[in-house]
Amino acid sequence: MQENQEQLIKTLKLYVPDLWSAKAHSASFQHTRSGYLRNRVSMLCIVWGVLIVLWAPFDLIFLSENDGVPLAIARVTLGLFLFTIAKVNNQQTSLRKAQWCMALMVLGLNLFYLYTMQVLDYPMVSSGFKYGYTLLPILHVAILTILPITLKESLGLLAMTAITQIYVGFQAERLFTPENIADLWLQNVLALMVIWSQLSKLSMLMRLYRQATLDPLTGIYNRRMLLQLAQKSLKYCEAKDAPFSVLLFDIDRFKRINDTWGHSAGDKVLRGFADFMQSKMRKTDLFGRYGGEEFIVFLPRCNGKMAEQIAERMLTSIRQLELPLGYDDTTLKITTSIGIATNSGSDTLSSLIERADRALYECKDSGRDCCRFHHIGHQYLGNERRRALA
Ligand code: GH3
Ligand code: MG
Ligand code: MG
Repeated sequence: MQENQEQLIKTLKLYVPDLWSAKAHSASFQHTRSGYLRNRVSMLCIVWGVLIVLWAPFDLIFLSENDGVPLAIARVTLGLFLFTIAKVNNQQTSLRKAQWCMALMVLGLNLFYLYTMQVLDYPMVSSGFKYGYTLLPILHVAILTILPITLKESLGLLAMTAITQIYVGFQAERLFTPENIADLWLQNVLALMVIWSQLSKLSMLMRLYRQATLDPLTGIYNRRMLLQLAQKSLKYCEAKDAPFSVLLFDIDRFKRINDTWGHSAGDKVLRGFADFMQSKMRKTDLFGRYGGEEFIVFLPRCNGKMAEQIAERMLTSIRQLELPLGYDDTTLKITTSIGIATNSGSDTLSSLIERADRALYECKDSGRDCCRFHHIGHQYLGNERRRALA
């Protein structure tokens, strides 16, 4: 029962901040979401822009000249505005700009609605053909369904439509008429459905993204994501002529922990170690599980000397770490070995990791619980490999 409650609290803590603003999510997810959002906003702008303009001949045919001509011009203007948003939106990559384009799209649609109502003198049901224009806000709410946006973003967009509609009701002097109240009620119900749909899309996107990028045991980056992000970071550092270092951690004699305490205690140790390391990371560091009981920290803008100092500090704090095993209050102390390498200019990401791995062998042969730096040209084979070759 208590475990269920804890699980529920954990899930809420994970998803509620995400669904409200998605800020708690990784920068790489924000990047992926911005691409997803950008496509959809551009698509909406193009489809809506075409449909808006296609209706212009009907305005000219069915409305009086006084109404039809200004509305047809407004339609073409809105169409051009939406096409411009689609074009600008496609040229940028940041989430902030995609959000701006989305807000401008909704603002444009609402301004068009406001103008339509003024030109048609706030039509009522008895106005016949003109009445159809009063239904525009319902469409403005409904089209937002396809956007995987957060609650904060969604409420912002829906508020624009709600304020416009309240303003129109006020101008038409029918804010509190039964028809207007019924309209607003229906629209709120629709808005709720839209929010529901948007949040389920966002949450599905987040779940799939988490599954694809995080290690299920420890919750930190998995090997694929870690290497993907490191590749980008290494390229960035190379372009800026900045150093880039790697620390390859391997827990010492981990097999013994499994053999002595069982596999699930071993899992708890891995989780505790990952949590501890995560808490020590700077914002720019990249930390993830490389495999089994091996973890990597990539240190952008960090030279070999700084990397060695960081590794020494980490070794000291890991020695003091007490990891719970999940049996009573039993805790366990561990030590790690750390292989260090810094990019030389000719390194690729895999050659850099390979060099850190060679330095790690050296640590293991020197008795463990230490760190070693790999110098270029230093062909360390390791005692075991040397023995095998002899
Ligand atoms: P060394 O100091 O030389 O690194 O010795 P070691 O025992 O740590 O290294 P070895 O490579 O012999 O053993 C690693 C062990 O880690 C073997 C494997 O069963 C265990 N392991 C790998 N992944 C997991 C996991 O997800 N959970 C648990 N509990 N154990 C794991
Ligand atoms: Mg190992
Ligand atoms: Mg090990």
